[in-house]
Amino acid sequence: MASVCEVEGISPFFQVRQTDFGGRECFSRVPLKEGTVVLEANDCVGACIAHEFRKEVCHSCFLYRNGTNMKFKLTYGDVAELLTPEVKLSEKGFSGAGLWFCLESCKLEYLKRPHIVELIECYEILLRTLKIMQKKTVEQEPGPDLQVMSGEIIECAWREINNSWIPKIERMKLTKRLNELPFFAEEEYNCARFVARALFSLKHLDPQSKTMATFRTLQSNELSKITRFPVLLNFQIVVFKSLYVLLPESFRKDLSTELFRHIMGSEYGNSFGIWEQQKVLEGREFLGYSVFPRASYFNHSCDPNITKCRVGSTMLFTLNKDVPKDEPLCIDYSSLLSQPVVKRRQILKENWFFDCLCTRCVSELQTIH
Ligand SMILES: [Zn+2]
Ligand SMILES: [Zn+2]
Repeated sequence: MASVCEVEGISPFFQVRQTDFGGRECFSRVPLKEGTVVLEANDCVGACIAHEFRKEVCHSCFLYRNGTNMKFKLTYGDVAELLTPEVKLSEKGFSGAGLWFCLESCKLEYLKRPHIVELIECYEILLRTLKIMQKKTVEQEPGPDLQVMSGEIIECAWREINNSWIPKIERMKLTKRLNELPFFAEEEYNCARFVARALFSLKHLDPQSKTMATFRTLQSNELSKITRFPVLLNFQIVVFKSLYVLLPESFRKDLSTELFRHIMGSEYGNSFGIWEQQKVLEGREFLGYSVFPRASYFNHSCDPNITKCRVGSTMLFTLNKDVPKDEPLCIDYSSLLSQPVVKRRQILKENWFFDCLCTRCVSELQTIH
């Protein structure tokens, strides 16, 4: 018998239960009608717009208009009045923190978010550093050629950071620390922005909140992901070191290797794509990704009873059929439900690290064999 999971009260419509096979799953508490919105997720912990779309997506509402640039860039005047004794951004060389908006009102909405100037400071530091990096023509040292990856190699790499690199940095004066900054490019920069956003969210989240409780219990797919892409280990270490050297003290003090690895590991397989909004699924642009902890317990089915839909920066989860009590509530992870069963399962395995055994897959597999 499935037992109730430690995360209770996410939604009045469903309950998260531990299943017999070790995972967790959402079950309807009562019979529910088609059209019921079982979860409205606006508690995004981390989000990131892909670098190539940075000027084409509104950072407040995620609007995308066929590749046209957003008109409203963040200016120094916008942030000047938000500055605090801790956050002192200078006007000279202000780059707009890489933030673009569709409307002046969207920009104002964004600036109203509590403590947002702290995050803007992090984004600005990262962007300025990226620009300096881009002017350098650095011969990038090839990382170690890791063909075989294991949990032990990952642990060993992070132990080295904890036992040797961090203590070394901590002994240095702030100005000297910049010498320890690894070279990074757009990919690392974008990932660093995602982690900075997550640190910012966690810093200001109520520790007792459901979002915080669910974030802590998110499953990490670190080992599966890095085993599949061994270069990611080095990539993560570059991002971690860059953040550790560059972030203001108030963020760095929260930045442990454990937290960093949980942010990264739970993003793999748990994040929701920020897709261009249009009716036809094929050919939509993948604009970025975001993590909504409370929405992370929906399992996948190739015949899902929940349709997910993005409205601005909020994700809505709506029943697409009537469901009885105690029914598993599932979404589609892949957006590839029209693909044949073998292809579909292959994509799910590669990106979400599981063998789909939903009723549709099981029945379609039987017709093949
Ligand atoms: Zn907007
Ligand atoms: Zn399936």
